Amino acid sequence: MNLIENQQIRCIDPRTGETVTTVDVTPEAQVPTLASAACDAQLLWFDRNLKDRKAAVSALHQAFLAHANDIAGLLAEECGRPAGEAWTAEIVANHELFGWWLSNIDDLLTATPVDLNPINYPGKRGRVRLDPKGLVGLITPWNLPVAIPLRTIIPAVLAGNAVLWKPSEHTPRVSALLASLFDAHLEPGLVSLVQGAGAQGAAVVTAGLDTVFFTGSVRTGRTVQLQAAHCGLPCSLELGGKDAAVVLEDANIDRAAHGITWAAFGFAGQNCAAVERCFVQRTVYDDFLKAIQDRVSALRPGDDVGPLVTAEQLSIVQAQLADAITRGAKVVAGGGECGPGYFHPPTVLTDVPADAQVMTEETFGPLLPIVPFDSVEDLADLVNATDFGLTTSVWTQNVDFGQSLAEQFNCGVVTINNHSFSGALASAAWGGTKDTGHGVTNSRFALYELTRPRTIIVDRSKQREMWWYPYNEALGQVTQGLVELSRSGGNRLPALGQVVAGLMRRWKE
Ligand code: ADP
Repeated sequence: MNLIENQQIRCIDPRTGETVTTVDVTPEAQVPTLASAACDAQLLWFDRNLKDRKAAVSALHQAFLAHANDIAGLLAEECGRPAGEAWTAEIVANHELFGWWLSNIDDLLTATPVDLNPINYPGKRGRVRLDPKGLVGLITPWNLPVAIPLRTIIPAVLAGNAVLWKPSEHTPRVSALLASLFDAHLEPGLVSLVQGAGAQGAAVVTAGLDTVFFTGSVRTGRTVQLQAAHCGLPCSLELGGKDAAVVLEDANIDRAAHGITWAAFGFAGQNCAAVERCFVQRTVYDDFLKAIQDRVSALRPGDDVGPLVTAEQLSIVQAQLADAITRGAKVVAGGGECGPGYFHPPTVLTDVPADAQVMTEETFGPLLPIVPFDSVEDLADLVNATDFGLTTSVWTQNVDFGQSLAEQFNCGVVTINNHSFSGALASAAWGGTKDTGHGVTNSRFALYELTRPRTIIVDRSKQREMWWYPYNEALGQVTQGLVELSRSGGNRLPALGQVVAGLMRRWKE
């Protein structure tokens, strides 16, 4: 069953699997026109000063809050998102995101001075400012259809960029609502929406961008990177994860079980930083297992855990579960019937061999394998035995030891006694290693990917520079004398004399 037919996207409610409405696809031929209109809007937008741009983004912020109920409603219809998740992760977190960027953008965009030694560089001053890249391409997935685009769009427009945005074909309606807010409050056409799937995504990448940001699967990320390379574009990739949680024997077991249940089953596991592997020290393994079984059996379908967003994702989860069971894994919580719609019960597994798919491939669904370990010496090998490197958590009451252990993990974010929540913090850089990709969102480091430094030097000196023509003997005297002066063990006094004599000759010439 194709999601797109006759230039229409079928909008499926994953809670029932039923098509509820359709949305028009943006014709590929229209994408270059949208890109060119966005570039025109960008010139007008960047011409407005930062104060004015901030006022427009503040109005957008207010409109976002005023539409919070509509956004939560569409997230329920398009993703089956429980209200608790829609409000915490996609409304309150984004409200804070707006606030942080609005409060900090002046400082972050303030030009930094160039260091110019007045003896070598008399009469000169310089500064480096951050200019917008221009037109930012943004391709986003369905799992967090509001939070993922906004974390790039807000800093992008504050810095003066335009954005050509291709959201997932699975979440066109909440994307259209956001786009209507952008059009109403920013320069019209500045954030331009392209609805559709892979073909429209590819059309965005080749539409004359200045940079492209992609969040999604490794396979599509590689394709986008190749296309971007072909166009000579920088490309920021945020791909998947296979996060580990490590529970040490001195952990607060109740808190660890509570936190890991949320981190594994929040968003029905459809979060690139979901806990997909849990390593527990054998001395507390039974206690932890009992605590997590109690927590998981108390989860309420629909209220606490939503469905998978797509039928394809449900099939992947079912296949990984079947593979694990075939290889000897035991279901100790959850399992059982799927449905209604694309719902899969939150499921805890034990006795899972290290080469089972659920231990090696990204699941992006509500499966949690729990594996005992005997010695902390083995942990780095266990945690790092994945192609991904997004986040890892360590649960221990010995915070110093937890931090020293964390140094051994090859990943972008480490959290002690919690998991991955910093993804919602605008001031905390978010990114990973290995197949997770090299993209960074949030914090000043994300702003660096959305801007280009422009250095401006002003010279009020009337003198001829030492390094200008002619390259004569006096120049040699000065430069060699300077090196001799700075060399450890150099013959300082004669060198100083040589520099002074050389400079005097050069000024006279
Ligand atoms: P998933 O299958 O989990 O949705 P994808 O990586 O395929 O993850 O999709 C992420 C985003 O990339 C979506 O917006 C999707 O439409 C888009 N996309 C898919 N194929 C391509 C492509 N060839 N070029 C650009 N974007 C694409």
